[in-house]
Amino acid sequence: MQRRDFIRFVGAGTVVASGAPLLASSGGRDNFMISDVKEVSKRMIDEIFKSNAFYKKSKNRAFFESFVTGQHPRVTLVGCSDSRFQIGALDDTPENDIFVIRNIGNQFASNPGSVEYGVHHLHTPLLIVMGHSRCGAIQAAMSDYSKESGSIRRELDSLSISIKKSKDGYNETEKWLNGVISNVHQQVCSAKAEFEHEVKSGKLTIVGMVYDLANDFKEGHGSIKIVNVNGETDMMKIKEMPIFRSVIS
Ligand SMILES: [Zn+2]
Repeated sequence: MQRRDFIRFVGAGTVVASGAPLLASSGGRDNFMISDVKEVSKRMIDEIFKSNAFYKKSKNRAFFESFVTGQHPRVTLVGCSDSRFQIGALDDTPENDIFVIRNIGNQFASNPGSVEYGVHHLHTPLLIVMGHSRCGAIQAAMSDYSKESGSIRRELDSLSISIKKSKDGYNETEKWLNGVISNVHQQVCSAKAEFEHEVKSGKLTIVGMVYDLANDFKEGHGSIKIVNVNGETDMMKIKEMPIFRSVIS
């Protein structure tokens, strides 16, 4: 997909000056002339069909036949809807492997039934809660979001509870990142309470992670970082857990 051209085309109206998309930036779409909106949509639809044709060509029939009768993913993943995080960052063949639930701020509270489906019905041995740096939902939850709609406020309310506990940090970026991490901890905690039996019996491991699109951890743009495993946040202890030994140095 010719993404760069597309982003340039829509950029002026959809991204705030700092480069940090906020929930409030949804108003940016109103800045488009109707003809521009239609042109953006047309280009996107064209690109989607072009990409899909390429995708179809790159897979053979056997690929699809291997999972046509049912899905057997190994991971249930709760991620943020933010378009800058995509599953391709974790798995180049996520089909039949990652059961994905996404919402603003990677919350457990908004979609408990979907998460439960992944754990109880699909029996994934892993549940990943994936936050990300520069998360607009977290920033909104750390700010005054009283002017957002009722639906958005309800989702942000569940985030702000956890974030209020961690407004520490030396500068705004650090505070923001701490808010992201704090929310991941809270979501892991909620999930652990829900799936206590599976975790205790060893059938399920809940992993809290942060995808770092902005290099805020100074480990490289696009890195992923484990911050919580089944409620454990001590990296020395996490490192000793057999399934993480090869990925944490
Ligand atoms: Zn986000």
